[in-house]
Amino acid sequence: MRKKIVAGNWKMNCVQEEGQKLTSEIVNMIRDEPSMDVTVVLNPPFVHLHGVNKLISGVKNIHLGGQNCSDKASGAFTGEISAEMLASFGAGYVIIGHSERREYFQETNALLTEKTKQALANKLVPIFCCGEPLEIREANTHESYVKNQLTESLFGFSEDEIKNIVIAYEPIWAIGTGKTASAEQAQEMHAAIRKHLASKYGESVANEISILYGGSCKPDNAKEIFSKPDVDGGLIGGASLKSRDFVDIVKSF
Ligand code: 13P
Repeated sequence: MRKKIVAGNWKMNCVQEEGQKLTSEIVNMIRDEPSMDVTVVLNPPFVHLHGVNKLISGVKNIHLGGQNCSDKASGAFTGEISAEMLASFGAGYVIIGHSERREYFQETNALLTEKTKQALANKLVPIFCCGEPLEIREANTHESYVKNQLTESLFGFSEDEIKNIVIAYEPIWAIGTGKTASAEQAQEMHAAIRKHLASKYGESVANEISILYGGSCKPDNAKEIFSKPDVDGGLIGGASLKSRDFVDIVKSF
């Protein structure tokens, strides 16, 4: 059985008190649901890791993740955060290759391979993001565009390694725009991604890999999107900053 995962990507939001309040509210709402079979991951900005980790300690279903990590192990790289540091602060996950990192920080497919290596070497689960911009969707070449992102960044990994990677499909035109992909569009792309993984690693490996949807996922559309057979959860931006909305999304399975 594939893991169901709902991850909140806070992006560059929340000062200290806001992050603490948000986390406490989520913890209080989720603590009451011990039988829930959804893995919840909170991905706050780095400075919140320690504080969030303290608040979630002892809550079985809630895990901690970073939003990015360095492609280097350690050393003179001012301002960077290594995967090893994230792990030492209690993170079990790290988002790699978010479209905002690709666009604003010029992260390439080759660099993302190195970041993924660092994550895996430190036993972090990479939440590897892929997804096409609007013009590619309009040209109807989105499937080959996304397949290429995955091939170039991930297809050098072994079968055992790829099994530990979570994929997040985030069409860029749906991020923060309120324009979500329809459940059918999400399913179509997730199925294509799984087929692509199967072409390299075989069907049984591809069937073990969780593929999350991201892009204007909200309480009112999560249920339909999550009901699709190849959608194993969500990577949530804006709605992860509101505890009630985020928990409602978590409970949409
Ligand atoms: P929104 O949910 O705000 O559209 O953001 C999605 C996202 O980029 C999550 O990583």
